[in-house]
Amino acid sequence: MKTITVAKGDGIGPEIMDATLKILKAANAQIKIEEIEVGEKVYLSGNTSGISKDAWQTIRKNKIFLKAPITTPQGGGYKSLNVTMRKSLGLYANIRPCKSLHPFVSTKHKDMDVVIIRENEEDLYGGIEHQQTDEVVQCLKLISRPGCEKIIRYAFEYARLYGRKKVTCFTKDNIMKQTDGLFHRVFDEIAQEYPNIENEHWIIDIGAARLADTPEMFDVIVMPNLYGDVVSDVAAQIAGSVGLAGSSNIGDSCAMFEAIHGSAPMIANQNVANPSGLLQGAILMLNHIGQTEVAEKIQNAWLKTVEEGIHTFDVYKEGISKQKVSTSEFADAVIANLDQYPSVLEKVHYEKGITFNLPKYERKAPAKKELLGVDIFVQWNGEEADQLAQLLQQLNNGDAQLTMITNRGVKVWPEGFEETFCTDHWRCRYQTAEGNVIDNESVIKILSKAWEHQIDVIKTENLYLFDGQRSFSLGQGQ
Ligand code: NAD
Repeated sequence: MKTITVAKGDGIGPEIMDATLKILKAANAQIKIEEIEVGEKVYLSGNTSGISKDAWQTIRKNKIFLKAPITTPQGGGYKSLNVTMRKSLGLYANIRPCKSLHPFVSTKHKDMDVVIIRENEEDLYGGIEHQQTDEVVQCLKLISRPGCEKIIRYAFEYARLYGRKKVTCFTKDNIMKQTDGLFHRVFDEIAQEYPNIENEHWIIDIGAARLADTPEMFDVIVMPNLYGDVVSDVAAQIAGSVGLAGSSNIGDSCAMFEAIHGSAPMIANQNVANPSGLLQGAILMLNHIGQTEVAEKIQNAWLKTVEEGIHTFDVYKEGISKQKVSTSEFADAVIANLDQYPSVLEKVHYEKGITFNLPKYERKAPAKKELLGVDIFVQWNGEEADQLAQLLQQLNNGDAQLTMITNRGVKVWPEGFEETFCTDHWRCRYQTAEGNVIDNESVIKILSKAWEHQIDVIKTENLYLFDGQRSFSLGQGQ
């Protein structure tokens, strides 16, 4: 008997969780439930995190968490509990299988069978945002080597353990050469360790277009957090419906399982919501805790039910569906089909004893890090970059001089174009004329002169060589 934590969530959460748990019980899943309250009620009681200390303790004790969707109240500074949970518990891998159920659920892609593996902790989801000038706000995109290695290794191990043939990587490293570039580089490195699994990289825009058009050409796809968030919803929707997909969030010690959709407040308390997404999450959970036979039994019963045309309103379609049912009726139909197999759709068989043995991340020896200069970001309300350059050249010192000014990344000095639109946010680069190494003191000298000349410095970024490699972007047009 495995003790798991359950949260019934908000909106349609309690209805779909009751339906899911009823099916698990009827299938004789060996689970004991400890329920916690998270979400809207907790937020509105004045707890801006949406979760109490006791609830955290229960989740961390049981390690396995089945969670119904929750509502994040609009405004009021409430942080998304989903993001907090994934990050606090170190749930770095988000796995979303998207398989079509043609001809029983309407889809343009009858042979689609894709697993999206999304990095779940970093990227723009650090939520590190600042307003820097009157006109410009910033969100910091952080990508780490351990983050990339963990998720990419997970994707290849997933492919190996589940007999998948190919792992594809989506990034936008033609533009983001440092952040997405690192993700792509680590993908290429780790792919070498799996010579029997095909690997390929696509730029995300054309990759996503091909996925939406020809999903059969993909198998397992791994990508950074934001792209994965968007692309996995698209993938679930084109496979049939977001209402049919579940996902797992896996970490080294804890795991959380859920439907991919939200709390759908518009249809709450009407007993009409489709419980399939959460049920799929629960099946991923049963596999994860080694109860593969129960998982298999429920999945085959669910496929049989879908095949019989017993559908909730969201997938019901005249001509394809046979019977429009409520949430609880759908659960009862699945229960009635336990021990039955689909006859047209492929019946599932889950291998026993699939366990991931992933190595702990090992920090590499530090690189030789040399300071080449500094980018000083300033707020300035003028329009002529040449005028700003004159002001900023007053900060030059023997070591470092102003070499470039960009506005929103585009070089505007020297030799900018008058057509370039400029905001009040300027990046001013100081380096030696010869591109030599400088010391930290010369950065401090520049900053203290900026203070004397009343230049409004917002922030600085050091320009480094790591093991002799330039590790910062050039200005666009430089
Ligand atoms: P949603 O997924 O709740 O609903 C989008 C649409 O899909 C709605 O039209 C809804 O009727 C339909 N739908 C969703 N699930 C369904 C189901 N099981 N059966 C039938 N139809 C279904 O997205 P939203 O409206 O943007 O978000 C509502 C709330 O959910 C927000 O507060 C959001 O923050 C939250 N949310 C939570 C999670 C989560 O807990 N993991 C995920 C996404 C959104």
